[in-house]
Amino acid sequence: MHRNPQEVLIMEQLKCSTCGTSLLGQEDFVKFGCPECGETIIMRCRQCRKLSNPYRCEKCGFEGP
Ligand SMILES: [Zn+2]
Ligand SMILES: [Zn+2]
Repeated sequence: MHRNPQEVLIMEQLKCSTCGTSLLGQEDFVKFGCPECGETIIMRCRQCRKLSNPYRCEKCGFEGP
């Protein structure tokens, strides 16, 4: 089956931006664009959401819960 390269990239990068845990197979995580620059995708696992762990954008350095 032919796969879109971009899709593969997203699958490989499917991990929590805060703790780095793999989100593959997890349903209870959030994914959103950086509120500051919008160029990176922030992903957070259920645990980090619950604990309100901070995340950091690799591109612009924005930090936030
Ligand atoms: Zn996490
Ligand atoms: Zn950013």
